[in-house]
Amino acid sequence: MLGSMTQPTPRPQVAALPAYVPGARGGAGAPPIKLSSNESPLGPLPSVAAALERAAAAANRYPDMTAVAAHERVADALGVSPDRVALGAGSVGVLSHILQAFCRPGDEVVYAWRSFEAYPILTALAGGVAVPVPLTADARHDLPAMARAITERTRVVLVCSPNNPTGPAVRADEFAEFLDAVPPHVLVVLDEAYTEYVRDAAAVQGLDVVGPPNLLILRTFSKAYGLAGLRVGYAVGPADAIAAVRSCVTPFSVTEAAQVAVMASLDAREELLERVAATVAERERVVPAVRALGWGVPSAEGNFVWLPHADAQGLAAALAALPTPILVRPFAGEGVRITIGAPDENDALLAALTDLHL
Ligand SMILES: *Cc1c(COP(=O)(O)O)cnc(C)c1O
Repeated sequence: MLGSMTQPTPRPQVAALPAYVPGARGGAGAPPIKLSSNESPLGPLPSVAAALERAAAAANRYPDMTAVAAHERVADALGVSPDRVALGAGSVGVLSHILQAFCRPGDEVVYAWRSFEAYPILTALAGGVAVPVPLTADARHDLPAMARAITERTRVVLVCSPNNPTGPAVRADEFAEFLDAVPPHVLVVLDEAYTEYVRDAAAVQGLDVVGPPNLLILRTFSKAYGLAGLRVGYAVGPADAIAAVRSCVTPFSVTEAAQVAVMASLDAREELLERVAATVAERERVVPAVRALGWGVPSAEGNFVWLPHADAQGLAAALAALPTPILVRPFAGEGVRITIGAPDENDALLAALTDLHL
């Protein structure tokens, strides 16, 4: 039987994955306004750029394999011990290690849908079975339905707050109720990629609830800290679960550049949080303006807004066809996610949405 295969064959879970689609790019005309990937609109702070230059000069050397200093610095900033933090190549990298560590082939992974696109991919790669639970009508997690979706086969539940791409944050009270309903052997991962942008006082704060042996908090330096290009994120949680995750981390996956940029960024935390505050102020300007144009934008607690729209691709194409193209992220048949950019970029977006008369 095996002898009849004419070429190496990927695992069925891998063969079933959608083919890689390159991210949005502008054409040959004016440089586009890129509001498609929830990045920070601003480049690295001078202090971070200087640290990166020093790291570049030492690029012939391997990084510290287990990133000891960076783990200590992150743990210190969070007020936990270093054995409760696991750094990795982006929080997507860390999440893949979490699933590798806890999900056996055929185990179920429950998550809300629509949510972060990486969840179905990483679940499939881990050999898990995806159990997507529809969002509520106001684009929020339906935590009671997610709790009911847990079976004997469930190993991991992913909760995204604020939810990418729709925007609402999970409330602290509903999250507490949810945690009470989850059996102790099921790992809950609270993905807080956008936590720094949250202003809803009722929203769950991972650091306030971390502690139960089955809860991991996932965070990233990609968004508020503006280091998306360096790929560094982390999990925070109980030492036992963190040790299992650390065992799965690919050796040397957090580069020296990423390690020094993390430490320099934590030194410049106040300055970076001022940038976040400026983005939040822009969000508070953009959301009402977009709603005033008739869009049913749900609560927006991240650095992006969600425009529900059946012809999402049409809207994205119209924005990309402008003399200065505006690149956004369409989800076919559902809506368009638009990152909050710099003030002039947001002005261009609002002008375009006003002109389009959709
Ligand atoms: C952007 C994002 C991340 C971060 O990914 P990195 O790998 O850290 O860049 C994680 N989760 C969600 C929901 C995101 O939107």
